[in-house]
Amino acid sequence: MSNHLFDAIRRSIAADDAVFIETAEGRWTYGDMVEWSGRIAGAIDTLGVRPGDRVAVQVEKSAEALMLYLACIRCGAVYLPLNTAYTLAELDYFISDAEPRLIVTDPKAADGIKTIASKYGALVETLDERGGGSLVELANDETPDFVEAARMADDLAAILYTSGTTGRSKGAMLTHANLLSNALTLRDCWRFTPDDRLIHALPIFHTHGLFVATNVILTSGASMFLLPKFDPAQILALMPRATTLMGVPTFYVRLLQHEGLNRQVVANMRLFISGSAPLLADTHRAFQERTGHAILERYGMTETNMNTSNPYDGERMAGTVGFPLPGVTLRISEPETGEILEQDETGMIEVKGPNVFKGYWRMPEKTKAEFRDDGFFLTGDLGKIDPQGYVHIIGRGKDLVISGGYNIYPKEVESEIDQLPGVVECAVIGVTHPDFGEGVTAIVVKQPGSSLDERAIRDALGDRLARYKQPKQIIFVDDLPRNTMGKVQKNVLRERYCNLYT
Ligand code: ATP
Ligand code: MG
Repeated sequence: MSNHLFDAIRRSIAADDAVFIETAEGRWTYGDMVEWSGRIAGAIDTLGVRPGDRVAVQVEKSAEALMLYLACIRCGAVYLPLNTAYTLAELDYFISDAEPRLIVTDPKAADGIKTIASKYGALVETLDERGGGSLVELANDETPDFVEAARMADDLAAILYTSGTTGRSKGAMLTHANLLSNALTLRDCWRFTPDDRLIHALPIFHTHGLFVATNVILTSGASMFLLPKFDPAQILALMPRATTLMGVPTFYVRLLQHEGLNRQVVANMRLFISGSAPLLADTHRAFQERTGHAILERYGMTETNMNTSNPYDGERMAGTVGFPLPGVTLRISEPETGEILEQDETGMIEVKGPNVFKGYWRMPEKTKAEFRDDGFFLTGDLGKIDPQGYVHIIGRGKDLVISGGYNIYPKEVESEIDQLPGVVECAVIGVTHPDFGEGVTAIVVKQPGSSLDERAIRDALGDRLARYKQPKQIIFVDDLPRNTMGKVQKNVLRERYCNLYT
């Protein structure tokens, strides 16, 4: 029977004894991958999970956890990974929303999960960070030659909840074709081959580490070093044996802080990729100076997989996310009227292509509201396309500040402040203001020992920005709040400073 995604993965295997995953504990060949994802698929099937049923998974990162993802694809279940940081109260929302047939959890959390599971009639099995647990025991009793459930291009492969940066996480329904088409496109654009060895230090409950990293490796027949978390020293130690790294911007900031980063250590590396949050142009430049490598930045989201990428050949332009990927159409519209805008004009980024999800899980109204009649998805991100065709992300629509009736794009103010000597980074937010509606507020991290003060920033901005864009208050902090994907949590900042002007 045909299984759209797994058939393609099988076809990409270069050799059964080729390495797929290397961890501190050992190696998994592609032959092992087929055997173990098959055994786990058998176990899930024996438990009574049928095609289309959801399997919710909240486990630590391990090779077995990726086998579980592949097992779900093979038996036709809808894979639903959950952030390991979610508390029981948060899990209650996801489980009541997704109604999984089976929940796979770390044994440490099993008692709490069972209480929730019993409310919604879900089964519970365990998987620990070393690859043990009740699910693996069941898999041991299964045969390795599982026959895939039939799954078409348009069938659901996964429900992935968004990161919750701007509000409550939404479940994005992703089909087999969404995942496969994007993996093949990225593989080709980034020139992955069976000779590649990726350093994988991202979480596997998010689109970046799960679909971008893992599916690109699988569809290339390449291999990866699976690390439990980001550790700069460990990554530098692996580089001489690796060829590529995928990271969030904080990876690169922290690698640059490490004295071991130099041209020699990266001599075997061919590509550094960044995404999930904006990479500062300064970081891009500093990395290039130190290593000779221009980081390749790309842009995507849970709902769409990847949309744009800087070129493999050609200029990787700092501060931009490159060109729409082959097969993806990207346009900019006026957020209020929906009118399509011209080059260099800032507005809402809209995308259409085989990568774009099927809709939000059990939110038909929200789905309808975020799609245009001609099939374009409203990303919620503001951006522009420059005359050379590079896409620039200006920020999120929800972060737009409206002060005294004027629209202020935080990124414009942030870029001005970031350029000042002594500034590490900053975030500009709108805070409720009795006279202006919102007051432009800058939260600034300065370099240790820098004498920079509010006055110096004001003086520098005075003739650079129109008066209405200038911060009403500037606040110095030690660091900006970030989530696990390195995204600055502006909603946390807005909450923290909500009484600033009242
Ligand atoms: P939620 O939708 O729940 O508020 P989220 O949008 O952060 O959370 P994700 O799907 O993980 O959830 O993130 C996608 C978003 O990340 C994009 O819409 C965009 O705002 C941002 N992003 C991704 N890549 C980049 C990039 N290279 N530069 C700037 N922003 C990026
Ligand atoms: Mg989002």
